[in-house]
This record gives sequence, structure tokens and C-alpha cells, in this order.
Amino acid sequence: MTDLQPVRGTRDLIGEDQRRHAHVAETARRVAGIYGYDEWTTPIFEDTRVFARTLGETSDVVMKEMYTFTDRGGDSVTLRPEGTAGVCRALVTNGLTQSLPQKVFYAGPMFRYERPQKGRYRQFHQIGLELIGPAEPLADAEVIACGWDILQTLGIAHDTVLEVNTLGDRESRHNYRSALVEYFTNHKAALSEDSLARLERNPMRILDSKDTADKRIVADAPTIGQYLTAEAAAFYDGLKSHLTRFGVPFVENPRIVRGLDYYGHTAFEFVTTRLGAQGTVMAGGRYDGLVAEMGGPQTPAVGWAAGIERLSMLLAETPAQRSSIAVVPIGDAAEAKALEILQALRRAGVRAEMAYRGNLRRRMERANRIGARAAVIIGDSDIATGVAQLKDLASGAQEAVPFAALVERLA
Ligand code: ATP
Ligand code: MG
Repeated sequence: MTDLQPVRGTRDLIGEDQRRHAHVAETARRVAGIYGYDEWTTPIFEDTRVFARTLGETSDVVMKEMYTFTDRGGDSVTLRPEGTAGVCRALVTNGLTQSLPQKVFYAGPMFRYERPQKGRYRQFHQIGLELIGPAEPLADAEVIACGWDILQTLGIAHDTVLEVNTLGDRESRHNYRSALVEYFTNHKAALSEDSLARLERNPMRILDSKDTADKRIVADAPTIGQYLTAEAAAFYDGLKSHLTRFGVPFVENPRIVRGLDYYGHTAFEFVTTRLGAQGTVMAGGRYDGLVAEMGGPQTPAVGWAAGIERLSMLLAETPAQRSSIAVVPIGDAAEAKALEILQALRRAGVRAEMAYRGNLRRRMERANRIGARAAVIIGDSDIATGVAQLKDLASGAQEAVPFAALVERLA
């Protein structure tokens, strides 16, 4: 068994890694709660059609990255590569399409068959928000403001830049698409194989290419601005003025498109230069067509997702382990009393531990090893007097404290 390893692209979260990870998820959950979001938990695997139909059959995720398998009953299921499609499926199957708006927060693992590297894994974790119902650009701005607030609360907002763009409405995209096809067709010879395929099926996706040669061509490609309808331009202006009112700084980047096909109007990313090629930490946009794709009514929606691993890497500090109180009995009679005190401390919310065996020296060694801040030492003879020794393990100072006063003293 010794050569068993975690599957390529997966990792164990233990110790500092786990604490950083949990801190990101808990902070996001709390801030999202302040903005009125409730958490949903949807299944980690879904009917393959939930993703294949809706992420867009040309997306990288569907073409190359999905973990899809046939289960023992012969059904095709897929480990979720992202959270939005499952939330929209859940909205429809739980009959919530008439109870809008729904403000959804989620956190959990996602699965994509990608080439693992720093900040890119095959099982990774996302936090995300979905605001389903409102069609106004105020909603887009508020969703972004909540994301910005989470980054600020984590202390990493100053390491990121918010880049926004518009993908326009259907008509704008239709007009823009023709211009892009014409432009890229003229540069066909230099395009990567992936982008040649995108040229036929979804030319906007070429703007998102990570290929260096593609990037050079993309640099001079037409931008969507001049193809926007009056309505789409007004929506984009609305987004920008609301962002300013929320006090969220941003830059415009006309190259931002979303990796998935169902987006329109707002597209945005929070990017950092601190993580090498994996610079996008939070990304999202408006996806007014997705709920209908799931079999529900036409329903506007906007949201984002952020990679917990990438956010964890940006944290300046690892959250400290909560320090314990070590309860140290010397003798059998003392052990019974110690157990009582141990549970009283725990009921008061104090992290407290007692070793399962060992003499005084062993138990004190163990208390130091777990980084306990204090030890409550109880000998058999202390039972009659009702007084324990409380030892501060940092300073070594020791004092007598009545059993009855310990909880209040340490809580
Ligand atoms: P990228 O361009 O890095 O591949 P993406 O466009 O595929 O990202 P999204 O689908 O928008 O990513 O997912 C939102 C966020 O989830 C990303 O910004 C990133 O922080 C995180 N993420 C995506 N894929 C991975 C992965 N394989 N490993 C770790 N984090 C990831
Ligand atoms: Mg990707």
C-alpha cells in the first residue's frame, strides 16, 4: 500500500492548508450572508446533460475537461466542473422559479480534467454567488461589490484588479461575431489549432486563448464597443456608474469573455499578478439564458465563482490554530475530577484536551507539543481542597485556582 498516492491534480488539506482554505470559505459565507445570500448545497454529480447542454458544447470545459462516466445503472453522470448549472437546475427542480429573487451562496469541490500546475488542480474548490431574478445592472454591480468585500475582508483586495467588460445583448454579439470572423479569417494561418476550431463554432472564445501566437493576433482584433446596441451600451454604462457608487475600483478590459457560452452583458474578473499564469481569482457575469436552458422560464441572473486555492495562496498569514487548555491529572482519583473539568471547559466553548495516559512529565510534554497555552494540573490530594494548579505554559507562572472558578477564568 505504501506507493498509493493521491490522484494527479488532487491534494489533501491538512494543518495550515486546511486552515487557510476554511478561513476563505467561512469569510465568504459570512460576508455573503451580510448581503442577504443563503447557502445552497447541490449534488457533486449531476446528469451529464445539466452541463453538456448549458455550458455550451464549444466550451473547453465540455470539450476537454469533464469527468463523465456511466454509472452502474447505465446513466451518464458528470462530476460538476462548476456550480452555476447545478444551482439553476436546483432552482427549476425545486419549483423556485416563481419565488424570485433567489440569492444563493455555495462552496464546495469542482472537478476538471486539466493539466495540473500551481493554482490549477483536477479537484479544486470554489465559493460562488448567484443572484437570480433581477435584470437591472444594479444587481450586477452589487454582486461584484459583495465579491470585492470578501476580497477586502480577506485582506487581499489590494493585490487584485477588477477588470470589467460587456458581451452585449444577442444582437450586439451577432454583429460583433461577423466582424471577428472576418478579422480572424484574415489571420487564419497564424491561429492555433484550438482557435481554428473556435473560429467555426464560437469566435469570441478566441479572445480568451492562452496561446502566445493567438494572443498577438487577439491584441489587434476588433472590440465589441462599436457593435453594441443602444440598450446594451446603456446597460454597461449603468453597471459602471453603480460600481462607482459602491466604491469598487475597476478598469475596463475589452478582451474579457467568459469561458462558458451562456453569458451576456456583464463579464468581469478579479486578477492578480501574484500567481503567475493562474492570475484570475474570481470571475463571473450575467447569464440570462441559463435557467431557460434548464427547462425553466426565461429568468435573468448574474453571479461569480472564485477559486478557494488561489485565494488561499494570496492570504498574507495563516490563521492561527486555536490554542488549547491541557487538563493534567496526577492519579486515578484526580482523573475523574479532571474529566469533569475538561467537559465543563468544553461546554463553555474552551478548546481543552486531556491525554489518554502518562505520568505528569509525559502529560506536560504533550501539552507543550500541542501548543497549549495553559495546563490545569490536578493531583489526588487536590480533590479534598477543591483547588487546581493553573500553569501558564508561556511564562511558566503557576497559581492555585478553585475548581469552581476555572471555567470563568479560562473562558
Ligand atoms: P482559467 O482561465 O484559469 O482556466 P476558468 O475561466 O476556467 O479559469 P472559471 O470557470 O471562471 O475559470 O472558474 C472561476 C474560478 O475558479 C477561476 O477564476 C479560478 O480561480 C478557479 N479555477 C478554475 N479552474 C481551476 C482549477 N483547475 N484549479 C483551481 N482553481 C480553478
Ligand atoms: Mg479553465
